[in-house]
Amino acid sequence: MSSILKTSPSARAVLSSPEVGRALSFFERNAAAITEEQIRICSIPASPFGEQQRAEYLREKFSALGLTEVEIDAEGNCLGLLEGRTRSPLLVVSAHLDTVFSPDTDFTVIRSGERLLAPGIADDGCGLAALIALAQAILNERIRPEGSILFVGTVGEEGEGNLRGVRHLLTRGRWASKVDAFLSFDGPGVDRITNRALGSRRYRVEIAGPGGHSWGDFGLPNPVHAIGRAIARLAAYPLPREPRTTFNVGRVEGGASVNAIPETAAMDVDLRSVAEAELRRLDSFFRRAVRQAVDEENANKRPADPLLDLKVDLIGERPTGETPADSPLVELAVEATKLMGVEPRLDQSSTDSNLPISLGIPAITLGAGGTSGCSHTLAEWYDPRGRELGLKRALLVVLGLVRL
Ligand SMILES: [Zn+2]
Repeated sequence: MSSILKTSPSARAVLSSPEVGRALSFFERNAAAITEEQIRICSIPASPFGEQQRAEYLREKFSALGLTEVEIDAEGNCLGLLEGRTRSPLLVVSAHLDTVFSPDTDFTVIRSGERLLAPGIADDGCGLAALIALAQAILNERIRPEGSILFVGTVGEEGEGNLRGVRHLLTRGRWASKVDAFLSFDGPGVDRITNRALGSRRYRVEIAGPGGHSWGDFGLPNPVHAIGRAIARLAAYPLPREPRTTFNVGRVEGGASVNAIPETAAMDVDLRSVAEAELRRLDSFFRRAVRQAVDEENANKRPADPLLDLKVDLIGERPTGETPADSPLVELAVEATKLMGVEPRLDQSSTDSNLPISLGIPAITLGAGGTSGCSHTLAEWYDPRGRELGLKRALLVVLGLVRL
């Protein structure tokens, strides 16, 4: 399917071209400006399902840079095309617009010494800064590659966003079925090459009953007790040592008073495994455990009492899979990393690349340079020192794929 895969791309060949040399030095010459841009974009709030303002900013930026076909698509992704001599191969270069933080979060970026502090400053503020810097470097040096690059700020990468942005882009959007390879920048670092997709399934469980007085109506089925039974069953799941598999009841709620039998109870559950078969096994165990827990609670009720009502909603699903380590895309990223004097590290994670991998599109996620900490907390920080190495590696991979 992919013309990218016909010939082995080479980072060394890209590196030998004089205009690429100038484009690489762009990142050092403009280090301060790239950081200023990251501060501007990260100061714009972008909570889950609230990415619009940040997408609008990116759209203006893409247009000002000279990208074409700039738009915000029906799902809210921001797109801009860097037109090569042809539209094949077509490479998506993406970073996610959203953060994990609620709409009332203060997104103001604070400088503290070399560090930048703000929720989302690294995840994925440094990825968004990388998109802009890469487009600038290529356009500034008037590099006209053979294939084309579609730059995308995606919505819905985090949490309950459930990859809705990249899913729309690659399955329903107007570029769907035209994309030959997919590259995502997520978080910092220069060594990481995420080529394996960590699968997950997320559920919301809601149990409802008649409710009543804790003493007077004792014997009615109790939704909180049923949730408790379900959690106890899940916690006793016989986990394999390998492949790595995890479960988490991350949120529980229900009830109104200590002396009332609750009318409702709910929990959110996250199931993960590096292997699809194991994830399916855990998934069916979990759904059976919840059903059995409710049956058990119902079995203890008095004959005339109504039954508990169970609702299990799949609120998130990310497929497992991989872009093989010996695929041209991964080999190119490995070569580019080594050319930076860094030992590459292949890993497995849950990112926007999960979706293209599940569609058979070669995809990897790379760190965008620099360092960070306290990700997904209000104390998140990013240190841009050394960022240029990550951007140089990125440029070699991008140009290696679309060819000069
Ligand atoms: Zn991220």
